[in-house]
Amino acid sequence: MAMLLVEDDVLPITIPEAIESLTNIVIDIVRKNRTLVDYYIYPRPTPSEIEAYKPRLQLLYGRLESLSTLDLPKLTLLVDDAAALMSASLLPIIDQLLNAVHGIQQIFINHYDRDLEQRKPYGTVYDILDYRWKQLERFQRDQIQSAQRLLADDLNPVPPSSPEPSFCRFAVAFTNGRDFGKLSQVLSKDLRSEDMERLHNDGGAFLSWDCPGCAFKVKYYIINSMGSHIHATDDVRSHSSVPEVEYRPSWLVKCHLHQAKSTNRRGSHSEDQGTARYSSQRNSFTSRAENIVRRQTEIQGSRASSVFNFDGMPRRTKSETTTLQISSLRAVAKERTAVYGCPFCWMVGKEYGHMGYCNARDLVEHISVRHNVSCPPPSLVLEKYMIGLNGKCAESVRRWDLNIKSTY
Ligand SMILES: [Zn+2]
Ligand SMILES: [Zn+2]
Repeated sequence: MAMLLVEDDVLPITIPEAIESLTNIVIDIVRKNRTLVDYYIYPRPTPSEIEAYKPRLQLLYGRLESLSTLDLPKLTLLVDDAAALMSASLLPIIDQLLNAVHGIQQIFINHYDRDLEQRKPYGTVYDILDYRWKQLERFQRDQIQSAQRLLADDLNPVPPSSPEPSFCRFAVAFTNGRDFGKLSQVLSKDLRSEDMERLHNDGGAFLSWDCPGCAFKVKYYIINSMGSHIHATDDVRSHSSVPEVEYRPSWLVKCHLHQAKSTNRRGSHSEDQGTARYSSQRNSFTSRAENIVRRQTEIQGSRASSVFNFDGMPRRTKSETTTLQISSLRAVAKERTAVYGCPFCWMVGKEYGHMGYCNARDLVEHISVRHNVSCPPPSLVLEKYMIGLNGKCAESVRRWDLNIKSTY
């Protein structure tokens, strides 16, 4: 039965509910297709024009599955109008499902049963898709018109309210097209010998993009007037150990975590000096951690007469306790030295402890393992973060900031 609805009859829906419903519809369409094939065609081979719908439906199923992994409250902290954006990315999926259903039904009507149209085998599917479309359109409009609507960077205070590492508010603003960075000259003490050689051979200059809200800064190379800002520079970087990932300095701005100005990292460029700095900081944190743990275990050792508690529960040996405490203090030390976060892990709800990186190479190594071309982030994230897959970007993206390539 066709649903005739006036706008006020459209009930609200949440994004997770819409994704779940659409996923179920894909499964339902696949089942109905199989039933029709069994009834009209089997045991003859299924014509290729019907078979062709299978991979299309699989693709839509994969897109829904990928969207379902996004943690909307977290995405909202990184991307403007995240809920409206997710809703907007569901509408083309509905459109393609409607096209698929119409196409398949038409093949059966044309070749197998002219009366099939009256029996409406996909009637419920049509109705639900139509209704979800109306719900999501309305959801999107309400989100955009909401009086409480805030930009993603406004949701991230500077300095962050939590002691945990968090993406800098100005990294979030940059991702959403608002660049508040300040420019400064890079002092020769901050240039590596390769940088000096480049200047000597090719001319040009190194500029520094300095975050207005924290101590983060990243240097980039310019050689011509057209490419003289961070959004236009042709300074493309890669690391020999990670040939499948290349990036521009703007990518590093988008991923930087808030760096307290009081730390001794102030004024350094973390993109290429991170390894050395991280090693020395880690050593100092680790030795401090080990000293604390040593003192604690000495006290525990003097009091303990047995390795078991009174209630009979096995108690950790001194060496086990020491190892555990050292590892947790090392994790804290690593978090404190982390300069970059992985936005893809953050937006699917993974913890910071597993995603803080002390330099650009560590970050791209992680991307090459966790977010490579076989399991890229959802397309709305690729578009927002200006990511290319084998050099190809979404239509609206002028050039990539991060390019993930296949190496085979
Ligand atoms: Zn910052
Ligand atoms: Zn990640």
